[in-house]
Order: sequence, then structure tokens, then C-alpha cells
Amino acid sequence: MAKIFAAKERPADDPLIVHVSSVEMVAGLVAPGAVGATARALMGAFWPGPLTLVFKKSPRVPDVVTSGLGTVAVRMPSHPVARALIERSGVPIAAPSANLFERPSPTKASHVLADLDNRIDAVIDGGDADIGVESTIVDMSRGKPTLLRPGGVSLERIEATVGQVDVHVASIGKVHDGPIESPGMGARHYAPEAVIILVEGERERVLRRIPELASSAIKEGRRTAILSCTADIHVDGALSCRMGTNQEQIAQNLFSAFREMDELRVDLIVAECTTEAGLGRAIMNRLRKAAERIIKA
Ligand code: AMP
Ligand code: MG
Repeated sequence: MAKIFAAKERPADDPLIVHVSSVEMVAGLVAPGAVGATARALMGAFWPGPLTLVFKKSPRVPDVVTSGLGTVAVRMPSHPVARALIERSGVPIAAPSANLFERPSPTKASHVLADLDNRIDAVIDGGDADIGVESTIVDMSRGKPTLLRPGGVSLERIEATVGQVDVHVASIGKVHDGPIESPGMGARHYAPEAVIILVEGERERVLRRIPELASSAIKEGRRTAILSCTADIHVDGALSCRMGTNQEQIAQNLFSAFREMDELRVDLIVAECTTEAGLGRAIMNRLRKAAERIIKA
């Protein structure tokens, strides 16, 4: 476990998610009675898949995995190769995303090698990630299920299954002052080398503001790119990247777009917001976390 933290340069206070290949495996990880009817309903609906559930932990789970917390995060991955690996190991596998800490999460094997070559022994390449953003995290150890991080399973789908859940303020992903309440939810994460300015607000105003920001950055001599969600935005001298025509495509392309911007030595990315519905909530969380500045248009 310590080698994971060392390879990723991940701080010890950022806990890992433990991956299982069957619902039965969960029992060995959590406190007696920790899995209630609501959690079982969520597992039934979304496992295997990108939904992580947080439970009171069993003392068998080492502190290094959970950063000393009294809870453990568990999920069952949908990729058959990942599940086969867990099955053959015969134990749950604590596994983070295979990137350097604070870098965009990898969605391809080449991203893993770009960050971790010479720090890890091997990569098992199961093909590109088909969702692109990380798992949704729901805390089941509180009075009411609480969304800690939006991800591959939308809040709407979760609420359609188990009714209303609480939404933790950290799940918005905005850089907010004051102490960080949830582990691993600190500011600036998932970020490329380039500075990101995220433009939020009503679409027409956003689409007017982005070219202004890009033009003035180009005049200052900065290598500038526009990362957009709802339209192709062209400005003389700027690189232009529309991440997709629907939320699924945008989620899938977001992190590889960040990495491409780095390869193209971009200094500044002006990014367009998307709507918070469905996967949009996870996309906006990642954009806000990666952004150096958030501008209201
Ligand atoms: P990932 O980024 O997919 O590797 O997931 C790791 C993230 O899961 C951490 O940064 C935390 O935000 C979250 N996490 C893991 N364990 C816990 C826990 N016990 N309680 C709350 N959040 C957790
Ligand atoms: Mg990660």
C-alpha cells in the first residue's frame, strides 16, 4: 500500500478505494451491520459500475488504506479484466487511479506510462476508459446517503433508486475557503500544467465572454486554447477543442483533452461550463477543481 502512495506521490491523508469482484467480498471490509437495505439497493442497481460506497470499516482494513479514517470506500468495477484480477488475487484490491497526484486521471494506458513509467512494474491495458470521469462516491455511514463526489453514475439515477440523498458541499468542487471537510477533496486536482479559466453562467453570455478572454490572452503572447462543451468556438490564434456533443462524450474526453493541451504546450485554457444535469455534475466538479479561476459571465 505504501508503494502506491510513493509511486503516485499521493499524500497519506488521501484514502484509497477498495475494489471487490463480488458483493460477498464487502462483508470482510466493513463493520457488522454496516450494509443496510439502501446500500444493497444501490449495489443491486449500479454494481458492477462506477459507484463507490463508503461504510464504517472493519478493523481488518489497514489504516494506510483509509488514511486512518473509521470508514472504507468500496466499489465493484465494471471492466471484466479488473474483476478477473481481483478474483484471481482472491482479495479485495485497494487501487487508485494510475496517475501522479493532482494530474488528470488517466483514461488510456499511454496516460499511465506518461505519469508512472519507471515507478511501476507493469500496466495491464484493458483499452480506453469508456466513462472517463471517476466513480461517484456516496457516503453510507451517515444518517442519510450523502453524495461526496459526483462521477460516472448520476445523482438523478441514484435518487431514482433510493430517493433523495444529501449533497455534500465538497461535491460541487468549487475552491472554497475554510477547512476541507472530506478527505481527498482539497482544491486543485485533476489539473493540466496549463492554467484553466472556467467561465460559468448563462450560455449566451459565456459564449460571448470566452472569445474576449482568449483574445486578450493571445495579445499577451500566451499560448491559448478554448475547451468547449456546447459549441465550436473559434478565435484567431487560439487552439479550439470541443470535447463532444453530449455529456457522455465530454466526460469521456475531458481528461485526455487536458493532457493533449499539455502536449501542445498550451499556457492558458479558457473552458466553457456545461449544465449540471446527469454527468454534467461530474464534469463541472472536475472543471472547477482543475480551474485556477472561475469567472461568472
Ligand atoms: P479515486 O480518486 O477514484 O482514486 O478515489 C479516491 C477518493 O475516494 C479519495 O480522494 C477520497 O475522496 C475518496 N475516499 C476514499 N475513501 C474514503 C472514505 N473512507 N471516506 C470518504 N471518501 C473516501
Ligand atoms: Mg485519483
